[in-house]
Amino acid sequence: MTQSIPQLPELLPCPFCGSADIYAMDMGGWESFCKTCGTNGPALNTEKDKVIADWNTRAAQPMGVAGIPPGMALVPIEPTTEMLTAGSHAVDLHSHSPRGTWAAMVAAAKGE
Ligand SMILES: [Zn+2]
Repeated sequence: MTQSIPQLPELLPCPFCGSADIYAMDMGGWESFCKTCGTNGPALNTEKDKVIADWNTRAAQPMGVAGIPPGMALVPIEPTTEMLTAGSHAVDLHSHSPRGTWAAMVAAAKGE
């Protein structure tokens, strides 16, 4: 009796729309694309395996809420009272470190 082993999909779901309808095709160079939303790339390559690895690397870093990439945050142009308060406290605690002040202000904007 043979036992079937579940196979992982060759291409991970689309990081933009979540579709699993993803293909890698040779169109004068291999390229991955999402049949649902039309996203392609990230780049043409002569090697199918490289194209799949590139897509899956991109897919492993999905966009956040409202298309905000990892490591970025949506903050108001004008700081809120909470952001200014958090920034003021951070300046006091971190001896005028701009990085610490900014981190505290962004955290306040995110409601953390
Ligand atoms: Zn898609």
